[in-house]
Amino acid sequence: MEQAELRRWEARCTQEEPPRCRAACPLHVDVKEFCTRMAEEKYDQAWATLCRTMPLPRVLARICDGPCRSACIRGQAGGSIELPALEHVCAQRATRQPRILPAPSRGKKAAVLGCDLAGLAAAWDMTRKGIAVTIYTDTPPADALDGLHIPPAAADSIDSMLQQELDTMRRLGAEIQEHTEITSGLAAGCLEECGAVFITPRAYDRLMAGLPEPDPLTLGTATHGVFAAPPLPCSVTEGASPVAAAAQGRRAATSVARLHEGASLVAGREREGVFESTLFTSLEKVQPAPPVPVPAGGYDATQARNEAARCLRCECMECVRHCVFLQEYGSYPKQYARRIYNNESIVMGTRQANTMINSCMQCGLCATLCPNGFDMGALCAEARQSMVRRGKMPPSAHDFALRDMEFANGEHCTLARHAPDTQASGWVFFPGCQLAASDPDSIPRTWEWLRRHLPPSCGTAQNQGVGLMLRCCGAPAQWSGRNELTAGTVAALKQDWENLGSPVIIAACPSCAVMLRSHLPQADVTGLWEIMDSLTDSRPDILQPATADGHPAVVLHDPCGTREDAPMRQAVRSLLERYGIAVHEPELTAETTECCGFGGLAAEANAALGKKITEGRALRLGAPPAQGKTAEAAPSGTDLQADAVTYCAMCRDRLAAHGKRTAHLLDILLPAQADAPAIAAAPLPSAQEEPVAGTLPADCCAQGFSAAARHAPSLSARHENRARLREYLLTSCWDEAPAASGPQAALEIRYTAQAAARMEERRILDADVRKVLLHSRDNRWLQDTRSPQGHRLASLRPVVVTYWVEFTRHDENTFTVHNVWSHRMHVRTVNGRTPS
Ligand code: SF4
Ligand code: SF4
Ligand code: SF4
Repeated sequence: MEQAELRRWEARCTQEEPPRCRAACPLHVDVKEFCTRMAEEKYDQAWATLCRTMPLPRVLARICDGPCRSACIRGQAGGSIELPALEHVCAQRATRQPRILPAPSRGKKAAVLGCDLAGLAAAWDMTRKGIAVTIYTDTPPADALDGLHIPPAAADSIDSMLQQELDTMRRLGAEIQEHTEITSGLAAGCLEECGAVFITPRAYDRLMAGLPEPDPLTLGTATHGVFAAPPLPCSVTEGASPVAAAAQGRRAATSVARLHEGASLVAGREREGVFESTLFTSLEKVQPAPPVPVPAGGYDATQARNEAARCLRCECMECVRHCVFLQEYGSYPKQYARRIYNNESIVMGTRQANTMINSCMQCGLCATLCPNGFDMGALCAEARQSMVRRGKMPPSAHDFALRDMEFANGEHCTLARHAPDTQASGWVFFPGCQLAASDPDSIPRTWEWLRRHLPPSCGTAQNQGVGLMLRCCGAPAQWSGRNELTAGTVAALKQDWENLGSPVIIAACPSCAVMLRSHLPQADVTGLWEIMDSLTDSRPDILQPATADGHPAVVLHDPCGTREDAPMRQAVRSLLERYGIAVHEPELTAETTECCGFGGLAAEANAALGKKITEGRALRLGAPPAQGKTAEAAPSGTDLQADAVTYCAMCRDRLAAHGKRTAHLLDILLPAQADAPAIAAAPLPSAQEEPVAGTLPADCCAQGFSAAARHAPSLSARHENRARLREYLLTSCWDEAPAASGPQAALEIRYTAQAAARMEERRILDADVRKVLLHSRDNRWLQDTRSPQGHRLASLRPVVVTYWVEFTRHDENTFTVHNVWSHRMHVRTVNGRTPS
């Protein structure tokens, strides 16, 4: 990433913008921090916050007229925060004065002509910048506040406070030359002696009469080294704004310091005074609350605490609030963009952000929520592509998913055919590799339903039908940042599609639909759900209700692939309604739905975070909370106790595996019949618990309603299911002989529950274990060693990963597998034996 590009990304996240109050404060007081401390009644800390920014704080904190109030966003929810009253009470109650130290002398001088608040503030700041300053005045310093608005509550104390701050200034090294007539001769002398002069508003009319107005940005005049501030507008009843006067002094002090340093007088000063912040703060969940009225004598402690507590501590964080990935790394997108930039800049050494970059789900929720459309998913996608280009992508991040995709697009799983007894396809059903992996049985019956109900006249050729394409759309390649692999995968898919005569593609999986639309723009792609909705619109009877007594309501989970696909989301709702099923919407739904954790291969690269993400979503869909956790609050009118329904196979499996009973929409619309052939592979023995009871009836004749409790298939079963589906279709639809099974199929393997669980955790397949055992057998068990328990240990490195299997051999082909593991190290063997 180039630096200019980083800046463009950074500029889109406004989280580091100040709250509106701070931007509207001429001195930029850190109001958020101040209110936080005041709400905690930590007056000394609140006072230290004020003193960090305010010149003459004992004075200004008592008389500030609070221009920030007109900008405070609380004003839209009950009334602006009463900051002047809070600052006043803080000044009264703080017991510890922060030590104010002058900066080391720079050997530079300045003169301030006239003694008013702007002059004192300029002198205050100059002493703190190491400049020796002298104030020349013909009026008593005690009159410095004349003409300013002094609130009644401060009237009694303000003189003594001013005196204390004058003492502080003298201690800091400022000199006050009283009884000095302010003339142009004095100004010329001071300029010659000091090189820098500030003409205060009080001296302005005398010294600047007839001269051009000073530059408002720098207060610079036509004479080099002379700065001047004109008197501020002054209402008859109120007087001039004290904080605006102090800000004039600050501006002058900054110009003088820059002049002495030889720095630019103008660069980077656009936001020195009042400006408009672009920080977004949502008021969506803010309850309106009116300000605590300010009594004539000011707030007491309780009133001050209550008023400070009304401050919203303005920030954006809209995206972070709703994204577990963004929360995980403890910051926000602007910072993440910097981390990614730094990560890319590292030539040698550890790339701290690699895991972060690979843990984003690329689900687009942040871009939808962000007022500026910051798309962290797009940023991470770019970063991944760059890592792949530069050879910096750790292979382990996506290795399993890419091999899984390769298998799904290999000879054992792919199919692209016209329907039996047809020679052309007007449509082609594209179920996607995850539906084939999750529930292969649903595919023949859905395809059959489409063939029966779709009009044959959808194209021009005779005898057209609905073809079938089994393969992966290439999403894993895209998510992993491998552009070439994506292009190759899509090219093969395109070839199959063209061979079928470029029919309309009916995609069952929302992610497939997104991929196909973006990489095969010439194709007409529609969702299965839109087709089912339009077909049943005029003929509702072609979807048979499963029970006579209506159906329980469901909680609907929209897959994140439908975020920008309103027609698909709408079709699903319309189908459920037609089928008599009431839908409860979770808080984050439709275009703000959450990812299940699989998107962007996040769960592949960061399994622990993937689990957290899915558990979080399951909880927000109403999964029973784990012990010690509280249940999610449902939006009003929503029953999260109901079982969930979704229309992405991966979402279904992940949510079901993480505690939320979830059915796939096909389970409900086209439930399996009792006499249907079972294609799905038998599960490996595993440590899964018994299904939990839910609202969709388990004993209903339609299996769809018990499907909410169906366990997600193991990784091995997912693999096998795709191959079994193809085999089933070839034999049942086209009468082809089943392919001869390889030698691995002859092995009879029993897995212990521990081994089955480890296989899921370490992404090891039954097929991998078979390879190891077969290799070991064919090498006459020569390389096997023994585990402490007396079990055999065999290993094989068929790809970049070495697999280890701990087993007992009962006979030549029968085994019990006790444990498995894998690693990327290459372990050398010594004389044919693995060193122990
Ligand atoms: S609510 Fe608080 S932080 Fe936000 S603008 Fe108002 S005072 Fe500032
Ligand atoms: S996971 Fe989704 S919401 Fe979170 S940063 Fe990535 S794309 Fe944005
Ligand atoms: S939503 Fe997120 S990315 Fe957008 S401005 Fe707010 S914190 Fe930054």
